[in-house]
Amino acid sequence: MTTIESLSDTYIAAPRLGTWAGPVPVPDRDSAFYWTGLQERRMLVLGCNRCSYLIYPPVAGCPRCSATELGQRELAGTGTVYSYTVVNREFAPGIKPPFVVAIVQMDEQADLRMMSNLVDVKIGDVHIGQRVRVVFQQITSDVTLAFFTPEES
Ligand SMILES: [Zn+2]
Repeated sequence: MTTIESLSDTYIAAPRLGTWAGPVPVPDRDSAFYWTGLQERRMLVLGCNRCSYLIYPPVAGCPRCSATELGQRELAGTGTVYSYTVVNREFAPGIKPPFVVAIVQMDEQADLRMMSNLVDVKIGDVHIGQRVRVVFQQITSDVTLAFFTPEES
């Protein structure tokens, strides 16, 4: 039986940066700017023009003040692991376990959190509060994904 302890010195097999074989996201009208930003190696979210609240995922209005005047804001791409799980089952074709799914709290705002895979990490090293930074991987001619990796790597 595979346990977290037995995997503690194992590099995550997938997705390692540069090896994505999983599903390809399909941008829609509301999220197109986000995907375009990733293509440009930029992490964009919505920001409220009235109260400056940062919004992710994209919605039509500010959840804090209800304003509908929203603009794009670029994040530094750094944050801390808020929570994570080690996945030991194959849920989507092409994404071979084990892998880590993390919720990352972005530095710009305490409740601005993104979910993605941690890549190029040892499972045993992953912990809540771990400093991470975004890394980009172009998977098709017009889709780039954002993953997170330990800040020191
Ligand atoms: Zn607002």
